[in-house]
Amino acid sequence: MDLSKSIQYVKGVGPKRALLLKKIGIETVKDALEYYPKEYENREKIIPIDMLKIGEKQTFKAYIAGKAREYKVKRLTITKIPVKDGSGAVELVWYNQPYIKGNFKLGEEYIINGKVFYKYGQIYVENPVMDRSDSLNINAGRIVPIYKLTEGLSQKVIRSIIFNLLKEYLNDIEEIFDENFLKEYNLLDIKSAIKNIHFPESSKMLERSKYRLVFQEFFILQLGLTLIKNRYNTDKAGIKFRRVDLKDFFSKLKFHLTQAQERALNEILDDMYSGKVMNRLLQGDVGSGKTVIAAAAMYVAVKNGYQASIMAPTEILAKQHYFTLKELYDELDIKIELLTGSIGTKKKNIIIEEIKNGEIDILVGTHSLIEENVQFKNLGLAITDEQHRFGVRQRAVFKEKGEQTDVLVMTATPIPRTLALMLYGDLDISVIDELPPGRKKIETYAISATLRDRAYKFVINEVKKGRQAYIVCPLIEDSNLINAKSAEVVYEEIYKGVFKEFRVGLVHGGMSSNDKNKVMNEFVNGKIDILVSTTVIEVGVNVPNASVIVIENAERFGLAQLHQLRGRVGRSSNQSYCILIAYSYSDVVKKRLKVMTETNDGFKIAEKDLEIRGPGEFFGVKQHGLPELKLANIFEDIEILKLAQKAVEKFLNNDITFKRHDKMKAELVERFKDKLEGIVLN
Ligand code: ADP
Ligand code: MG
Repeated sequence: MDLSKSIQYVKGVGPKRALLLKKIGIETVKDALEYYPKEYENREKIIPIDMLKIGEKQTFKAYIAGKAREYKVKRLTITKIPVKDGSGAVELVWYNQPYIKGNFKLGEEYIINGKVFYKYGQIYVENPVMDRSDSLNINAGRIVPIYKLTEGLSQKVIRSIIFNLLKEYLNDIEEIFDENFLKEYNLLDIKSAIKNIHFPESSKMLERSKYRLVFQEFFILQLGLTLIKNRYNTDKAGIKFRRVDLKDFFSKLKFHLTQAQERALNEILDDMYSGKVMNRLLQGDVGSGKTVIAAAAMYVAVKNGYQASIMAPTEILAKQHYFTLKELYDELDIKIELLTGSIGTKKKNIIIEEIKNGEIDILVGTHSLIEENVQFKNLGLAITDEQHRFGVRQRAVFKEKGEQTDVLVMTATPIPRTLALMLYGDLDISVIDELPPGRKKIETYAISATLRDRAYKFVINEVKKGRQAYIVCPLIEDSNLINAKSAEVVYEEIYKGVFKEFRVGLVHGGMSSNDKNKVMNEFVNGKIDILVSTTVIEVGVNVPNASVIVIENAERFGLAQLHQLRGRVGRSSNQSYCILIAYSYSDVVKKRLKVMTETNDGFKIAEKDLEIRGPGEFFGVKQHGLPELKLANIFEDIEILKLAQKAVEKFLNNDITFKRHDKMKAELVERFKDKLEGIVLN
């Protein structure tokens, strides 16, 4: 049997249900078998009718004791059926399900689960679920799985689909671990695990099957990550940079480093001055001052006769780094160049030539600088800014541009340490946990759309004080599919309206790089007062004079993203403001926006974000291209993660050949897809 068979052709599904199942990510038999319950309800305990408690959901066994009766009360159809066991009688009640009455025959025995209530001197059980007592029970009388659903799909239906699939396909699920491995780590075999994760025989079996599946998810994830990392790791010694006096560099700075910056820089320099290859992650909240640290480290590399390079995720940010660095290195005899996608071929060829012959000391750029034709003479230090925007492979390719190159990756997305260890594996971590002095907390307000005019008046007041403002919209242009503000429309509206006496600019991802840069430069240089934009300004852009940011449709953004966006202001000693405008105000939206108004601390926000969205989303496929964790939870299952990490280490040390583990190899390839490209698994 074929686990990749389309779910539509499975017994009890058909085209209509297939569409519903697709909505929850189930397209094949395999998808369904891996659609694990989100929780369980223990309906094992069978209670005699005369012992049922009012107000509780309980399970009992009873036979149909009379005919179904139907009542109409206004628009409501009520169906009642009497049932009995040896101890007493109750009435089953359904609302607006008239077809129910045809389902039962007098005398048939059922296991029944439902909420019990008492009215007009009679005990009722409301909307019960029932299984025939002589068939395999899947809805009552056992630990019952509860799945995440979509409208139009009921627990009963999905349970029966999965139950039938298990009967038919369980034997086709293949074990990826061998006998010894299962024994060594005390793992349940895969067939029992899949069966029990859906329909547990007992709480004990449920525990064991969870353990097995979580272990497997972590094992495969860790194995793939390790293979990717090993590919670029060699044991050869790194560059041992000579100590450099940073006096000249620091004498030009207009500020002193914070203690946290000082500490981070020392950790980086210690790596560089030692003979080992640096592999370091620099974490620091938005505005904590990472750029100057990168600049100092690159200065050291260059003064040692090496080249250095910094890669940024967007053209705007690359350009900004370029100008910042140019200023920092002024008169320090360093040749610095910018390479991005929008640079003309002629200029590009010159840069490529000069990077190859070593004339350029520092190359700043976007993804363009990891293209194949860019070859460094001697790249000594490769820095990736806003690392979370790049994938594992891009970082690795960048490093490959040099030999034994030191690597520094910087991120403003703070993640708990254990997670960092998993995602970045062998990286050492430095943290800048202090903002430069004089920064004021960004005052943040969450308002509903009815107060939008007042928000804009507030913006006008700030601009009149000589400050600048951002207005961020989720879309570029209006869409009839998505109901949200678009930058183009907002721009049109305010340019001619409330802001007509000011200079308003528009920037979004659909514009040509040249146009984007032109507008951004005007904003940086103070020639634009109010910048309407999409999230292209999200990472890194630094305009200290900007003191207010308005985010339209704030409900559409993730918390981490809102925090990044908010970080565009509060970059000087001026009091700054962030106004979040929500166009729908559900409880979840309220909760999330409240987090933003309460704290400016990126770590706290990241934690809340994880809590609300779950790690699957937070570290999901989109950001890192890593396999999705269906069952494992990086926080709750941290102990299993550690065990799986050790198991991977041992497994790889055993001189494995994937020929002997072809099922494991297949699983690995399926989960990681093209991430493993170029890695030989034999
Ligand atoms: P991020 O960590 O978000 O990349 P940046 O490096 O862009 O932050 O720094 C934000 C702003 O803070 C810049 O204008 C920078 O010049 C300034 N800055 C950095 N370090 C300090 C410091 N120690 N004291 C005062 N200002 C600083
Ligand atoms: Mg930055």
